[in-house]
Amino acid sequence: MNAKFLQTPIAYLKGVGPNRAEILQSELGIHTYQDLLHLFPNRYIDKTQYYTINQLQRNSSEVQIIGKVVHLKTVEQARGSRLVATFMDQTGEMELVWFRGHKWIRESLKLNVPYVIFGRLQYFNGRFSMPHPEMELAQEHQQGIRVAMQPVYPSTEKLQKRGITNRLMNKLLQQLFSELPGAFAETLPAKMIEELRLTSKSRALFHIHFPKDQETLSKAQFRLKFEEFFYIQLQLLFKKQLRKQKIKGMPFEKVGEHFNRFYQEHLPFQLTGAQQRVIKEIRADLGSNAQMNRLLQGDVGSGKTIVALLAMLLAIDNGYQACLVAPTEILAVQHYNGLKELLGDMGVSIALLTGSVKQKDRKPLHEELQNGKLNILVGTHAVLEDKVRFHNLGLAIIDEQHRFGVAQRAKLWRKNQLPPHILVMTATPIPRTLAMSLYGDLDISVIDELPPGRKPIRTVHRYDANRLKVFRFLRDEIQKGRQVYIVYPLIQESEALDYKDLMDGYESVVREFPQPEYQVSIVHGQMKAEDKDYEMERFLKKETQIMVATTVIEVGVNVPNASVMIIESAERFGLSQLHQLRGRVGRGAEQSFCILMTGHKLSSEAKTRLETMVRTNDGFEIAEVDLKLRGPGDLMGTQQSGVLNLKIADVVRDRDILQTARFYAQRLLKEDPDLEANDNLPVRVAYSRLSRHKDIWTYIS
Ligand code: ADP
Ligand code: MG
Repeated sequence: MNAKFLQTPIAYLKGVGPNRAEILQSELGIHTYQDLLHLFPNRYIDKTQYYTINQLQRNSSEVQIIGKVVHLKTVEQARGSRLVATFMDQTGEMELVWFRGHKWIRESLKLNVPYVIFGRLQYFNGRFSMPHPEMELAQEHQQGIRVAMQPVYPSTEKLQKRGITNRLMNKLLQQLFSELPGAFAETLPAKMIEELRLTSKSRALFHIHFPKDQETLSKAQFRLKFEEFFYIQLQLLFKKQLRKQKIKGMPFEKVGEHFNRFYQEHLPFQLTGAQQRVIKEIRADLGSNAQMNRLLQGDVGSGKTIVALLAMLLAIDNGYQACLVAPTEILAVQHYNGLKELLGDMGVSIALLTGSVKQKDRKPLHEELQNGKLNILVGTHAVLEDKVRFHNLGLAIIDEQHRFGVAQRAKLWRKNQLPPHILVMTATPIPRTLAMSLYGDLDISVIDELPPGRKPIRTVHRYDANRLKVFRFLRDEIQKGRQVYIVYPLIQESEALDYKDLMDGYESVVREFPQPEYQVSIVHGQMKAEDKDYEMERFLKKETQIMVATTVIEVGVNVPNASVMIIESAERFGLSQLHQLRGRVGRGAEQSFCILMTGHKLSSEAKTRLETMVRTNDGFEIAEVDLKLRGPGDLMGTQQSGVLNLKIADVVRDRDILQTARFYAQRLLKEDPDLEANDNLPVRVAYSRLSRHKDIWTYIS
């Protein structure tokens, strides 16, 4: 019954008006009453306490005091002036200080009238003072909705400057609630509310803004977090259900000659148990009537490529084309070469399409793609361009998803009438339970076993001061015929400096490892693609022993003979990046090493990252630590997908609630797949409102 009321433009709320409405919109995205209602506080300040001035302690931080302003003066300073008020209660006096907005304060502040002030306390020269206090007339303070836990709303400098203070936000919310025509409709089934002892929707919304005490606040938070997760899960699961039932795939019914011949004659090694299992899972998907939408997780070096190839052969056996899309040119080239070699004389036609393929070479390629002569297309995002049309694309494989936006994947979807099967491969492991919860509409396969004979990489942390020793170690390894990567950070914000570091580093390496005895390659993002390829190629052919690079080699490059990875300024890399980089070595039978170089000054977070790397090679364990340190922001393009556009819940901190919500969403859909039961009416109503915002690409996100 509140739906219409909540859609009222925010300008109409008493106390807002057109000017404030505009700022609220631009700064906080608040357009309607509904938006304001869902602006949840960042934190709460306990205002159950009132202090007297003689109770103040030097370590009191935020305090609330009742008293009067008895005197106001302007004090000139070297830079501008400050306005100082003498504030008194029965027990003593202190100062209130303003550095800005003097005129307004002089005009509006009433002398000798009781105020309730609140703010951060400062102690200076034996006196207490409070800069820019929040002030409210004691009389108004008593009339407001009694809030013990004072909510603190998100704010910006601009909001502050324009007088939209926390207190005003609080007032606006009071106003909103006072105009409310009735209770909020319940959005969860009665049974669920009872089982989980949830507080009602109405009460939760009220208490999140005006909590009586810690307990009501906790209950309100739990209810709203649960609800937020519940609907995300419901959406994901619903989509998956829909896809399985309604979106017809192209069933790859037979396992044919290509697959069998490759499997019997061309497999260069025995597949690991995990690879076999995953191939079975993929085969089952491809053979069914539904479109496959599968995420393949496997640590670096776990052997995802061969799995991809076998899946592509299934497509070919059933008369379809396949494509493999990689995030970088280097990787696309590697895949292309690698696959060609694996395929040998199988008679499968395969082509490469990247940004640097010349126009004149593209024409025949486009033709063969369209008339179906070409079986496999490997490439970068160039494959996604509209000009690139397939005869019948049956399977699209995307490698290393975290570089790949969801919208880009959607382009693949649009290349056919029927959506191709999609396999997304990633080496950025996320804890499985979390993955299931976040990507509930994808099916997930995990390669949790490395090919046999791999020796775990030995990782150490060394300080820059020990560089000479490290170089000596390198010389020994190179002597044994091994190759070495030396990687420099490249962080966008300080690109110029980073390039300087890289070039300085390169020069010192060349000095230490002079020609003709040693050959050093360099690869970085500002080089032309063909120069990068050339250098990679030299390294691959063992013509150079050392590869100095920025993180362009981060993803997927495979040089089995490289056995030492040196990461410079390792403290500047994130954990998952460090792990990815380390994964470039340890691919051959030799003992491999990863050396993390840093200076002496390290933040505690950086120390944790380095210690974690030294302690373990397990990508999943590393992902756990990473998640704790950083939160989920960066996980696999979640930002673009909007999946994590959460207003109140936090996937890391509230993981338990997430699990619960997923369980309840699953159960609900199992019992009532079309949300027809009477008890589930609130869910149906809320869900249909939610899904009106749906976009086609959400099917494959
Ligand atoms: P990633 O999962 O990181 O993409 P790759 O597919 O590049 O891993 O495989 C890494 C290396 O391991 C390659 O050299 C590949 O030939 C090799 N490899 C893959 N599977 C096996 C296996 N079952 N036995 C032995 N070597 C394997
Ligand atoms: Mg790979």
